[in-house]
Amino acid sequence: MGEFELIHQYFATAPCAQGGAGVALGIGDDCALLELPAGEQLAISTDTLVAGVHFPDPCEPFLLGQRALAVAASDLAAMGAAPLGFTLALTLPHAQPAWLQAFAQGLNAMAQCCGLSLMGGDTTRGPLSLTLTVFGSVPRGQALRRSGAQPGDLLCVGGPLGDAAGALPLVLGQRQVAAQISVPLLARYWSPQPQFALGLALRGRATAALDISDGLLADGEHIAAASGVALRIELERLPLSSALLTLLELPAARACALSGGDDYVLLFTLPPSQWPALQAAHGELRVIGSVAAGQGVQLLDAAGQSITPAARGYEHFKAASAAK
Ligand code: ADP
Ligand code: MG
Repeated sequence: MGEFELIHQYFATAPCAQGGAGVALGIGDDCALLELPAGEQLAISTDTLVAGVHFPDPCEPFLLGQRALAVAASDLAAMGAAPLGFTLALTLPHAQPAWLQAFAQGLNAMAQCCGLSLMGGDTTRGPLSLTLTVFGSVPRGQALRRSGAQPGDLLCVGGPLGDAAGALPLVLGQRQVAAQISVPLLARYWSPQPQFALGLALRGRATAALDISDGLLADGEHIAAASGVALRIELERLPLSSALLTLLELPAARACALSGGDDYVLLFTLPPSQWPALQAAHGELRVIGSVAAGQGVQLLDAAGQSITPAARGYEHFKAASAAK
């Protein structure tokens, strides 16, 4: 199969490549053309996923297609951008029809779920890797930056933390557990849901936001540094799913929530007056701490004493947590 036949069969004819909001010209020319509503700014983000580094190799191509786009799209949600489109640069060792078919179906499923149109890309031969660039739009001046957190703000997250890290031994086939535990955890790893509705709701409310990709502590440092404030996280308030708490003892589940990557849940700071209306509309939100004068991320126990976590960042494919 030639390069152009491959592009046509699996990508140009995919439902998600048939245009959509903002797409004036899609796949087939030297460039795609995007139309931006008046008064809006273009939000752009790129992510590369390398086989064996960012995902296990081999893996299910459908799940890979889903996850690759979700990971990239999450940055748009974190910025408060509305989804427009994306490009896909795909490097493949061989053109295997069954693999391409399943990959394109997974990609298409996530594209349609997010409202993102496939607008172009590049196809090359080499070790398996994917680069996705996503485009969104946000009213001028309303993008959710990392730099506006203020002392006195609440520190909040968009949902349970640590599931993707807890799922890692299951993803890697190192551990088998009952389906009622493995199914929800594997779904959190393979098909994270970019929090677009929450990102839009945070426009004009949140003072800072990002999506947690490298772990709560590591990503919290980015808000603290950009805003010139300290973030105080209360260990007891970390939201943990019942599946994670069934898989792991509490300390290991908390370690996943603090230092595990790949959750793609939003972390944001919010003036307390904004909390009631926001929580009423988004039930999964949790306050996990507060913003104070100072610098860095502090972890506090139930008595308000500072504690030092074992690890701050996330290492890909390293299962850090003790199994139950
Ligand atoms: P060029 O040589 O002008 O850069 P290509 O021959 O690489 O263009 O690609 C032809 C068309 O197919 C372009 O519109 C490009 O954006 C699109 N394309 C190439 N690879 C992919 C892909 N993997 N997914 C979606 N569109 C693709
Ligand atoms: Mg060209």
